[in-house]
Amino acid sequence: MEIAPNVHWLETTSSNVYLVVEPPNIVLIDASMPRQQGAIFDFLRQVGYQPTDLTHILVTHADMDHVGSLAAVQAASAAQVMAGADSAQLINRGKSPKHMPAVVQWIIDTFMKYGAVAQETIAVFKDGDTLPFLGGLQVLATPGHTLDHFSFFSPSTGVLFTGDALNTRNGRINLTPPRITADQTAARRSATRLLQLSPTVIACGHGTPSTNHTRDDLTQLLNSLQ
Ligand SMILES: [Zn+2]
Repeated sequence: MEIAPNVHWLETTSSNVYLVVEPPNIVLIDASMPRQQGAIFDFLRQVGYQPTDLTHILVTHADMDHVGSLAAVQAASAAQVMAGADSAQLINRGKSPKHMPAVVQWIIDTFMKYGAVAQETIAVFKDGDTLPFLGGLQVLATPGHTLDHFSFFSPSTGVLFTGDALNTRNGRINLTPPRITADQTAARRSATRLLQLSPTVIACGHGTPSTNHTRDDLTQLLNSLQ
């Protein structure tokens, strides 16, 4: 579904992925759980492109439900992966960042690995960078849910890709629950930074992307974070 001009949303098992279609650039944002490459490639074809047309894959953070199919999609497309330095290290080892309750974290660390991505296919971005998509896509460090977390904002279109810094899981814009948040104070600070951008489209990692919120909705959440 097209949620903004040239921005398409696909809900895969447990998480959202997005495509920014600006030929010659075809950009995927996040890569879902393992074994979702088929769904991602079908999504590309629906929009009129082949796997080999994909040019870039942006990573919000290295949780398995956001990078699970990254290696498979990268291998089939030869796309340039772009990630923060900490995410890059994790996806190079097929590891997830620590932020779950202890038992769940142990299970993840012990049993749940995803396909690792070769270092040479990853370009590292940092806070303050601007990527050449959607009229200049700002790279924002938004640690909290995980410490390696980044979001992306396009001022000219108002589209904000939040990963798990914000979600609409319960039908309204909110932060991830404290039990799966690595640093609650940082998460609130990051959410504040994002809400102050007054995005018109909140393309979140979980839940339906928000396209019809008002400024008041954002202000209300902002005030609750103070
Ligand atoms: Zn996450």
